[in-house]
Amino acid sequence: LTAVDLVKSTMATIDEHESQLNAFITTNQKKALAAAEKLDAEGIPADNLLAGIPVAYKDNIVTKGVRTTAASHILDNFNPVYDATIVEKLEAAGTINVGKTNMDEFAMGSSTESSYFKPTHNPWDLSRVPGGSSGGSAAAVAAGDVLAAFGSDTGGSIRQPSAYNGIFGLKPTYGRVSRWGLIAFGSSFDQLGVMTRRVKDAAPFLTVMSGHDGKDSTSSQRPVPDFSQFIGQDIKGLKIAVPDEFFGQGIADDVKAQVEKGIKQLVEQGAIVDHVQLPHTKYAVPAYYVLASSEASSNLQRFDGIRYGFRAEDVKNLTDVYVRTRSEGFGPEVKRRIMLGTFALSSGYYDAYFNKAAKVRTLIKQDFEEILKTHDLIVGPTAPDTPFLIGANVADPITLYMKDILTISANMAGVPAASVPAGFNAAGLPVGMQMIAKRFDEGTIFRAASAFE
Ligand code: GLN
Repeated sequence: LTAVDLVKSTMATIDEHESQLNAFITTNQKKALAAAEKLDAEGIPADNLLAGIPVAYKDNIVTKGVRTTAASHILDNFNPVYDATIVEKLEAAGTINVGKTNMDEFAMGSSTESSYFKPTHNPWDLSRVPGGSSGGSAAAVAAGDVLAAFGSDTGGSIRQPSAYNGIFGLKPTYGRVSRWGLIAFGSSFDQLGVMTRRVKDAAPFLTVMSGHDGKDSTSSQRPVPDFSQFIGQDIKGLKIAVPDEFFGQGIADDVKAQVEKGIKQLVEQGAIVDHVQLPHTKYAVPAYYVLASSEASSNLQRFDGIRYGFRAEDVKNLTDVYVRTRSEGFGPEVKRRIMLGTFALSSGYYDAYFNKAAKVRTLIKQDFEEILKTHDLIVGPTAPDTPFLIGANVADPITLYMKDILTISANMAGVPAASVPAGFNAAGLPVGMQMIAKRFDEGTIFRAASAFE
């Protein structure tokens, strides 16, 4: 098998699925084939696991010479002149970028329905959403288009779609992976991660992606282990905390039942389970939406019709350029966040909203730190439900925001967290089990998730 064969068959599979899934915004056939030809000519070293492997990137990860839109009209003709650090590293390892995946506009959403490029469909049931915002990456992996796809997770955008698609998706510790070249949403929450069907397949990708980068001052100097070493280690004596709040009101019964079954399996393998409380969980959603929207309102100022992408036509003066470009270029969810964030940061309301939410964030962080002092993992469901019908929640943003209740806290605390496939409900829809570990302890997630799988 040559790299060219692999890229050709991947492209054929993507083409076959796309009319039903719409998982990609842009495919990258020509450049991918050229990269594969070069690899074949140079010869693939036998010890390089990743060389020649076709992968896909969420479309908020900038790729040199390959259109990068963040699923927004305002960037729909943006052709970056540089690669994100993770793209640079993964390409140096020999992986091949076959395309850019669909997502919620600027990663704001939980269903991939806020994309300017139409929603992605869930491969398990085409009438349902794939989750979001990394819904295109999740669907592409679940459908077998690519072995691995990359996404970003600000409040659950890797884990929730992974749960909805029955795949493994990991959000690393804040600072583990450079954010350089990720189109910023909430910079103090954003983290890039990897999605694969099998747990063991994610490990070598994370090893390559991780590590300090001078271009991201929040990236950590910590040494990066070879994450593959944790795959298949036993979990005897592993201390697992199960928070009551993760099984409370608003969590669907079929999800609870399936995850409880999963926890039993972990116990059968020697894990020790404690029931614990994360008392500030109920404030996570409102605090997150104030903080992440505030950061977004600041980060999205740069889209002004001057520097990047789309610019409104027939404008009369500079104010008109700004106002019309942003009015026409952003979709309704992005505008809602910008307004919410601008309001929360404005002088008269800053203390009441932004500052209050920042304090709640500290309390949530302390809840996690306390429990993780005495436990190796926190385990519960990833999402409160299974994939819902396309269109079912578009008119109701608050209902959609509540779907992040179980994922947001890990971003608030900066700790690593993953969704691991935990079987299916009676209707055949996938359920995800979430595993949350101490800062920089992704290894324990790989250990437990591979034992569980
Ligand atoms: N659903 C959350 C939001 O809309 C999380 C998004 C994300 O993680 N990018 O903000």
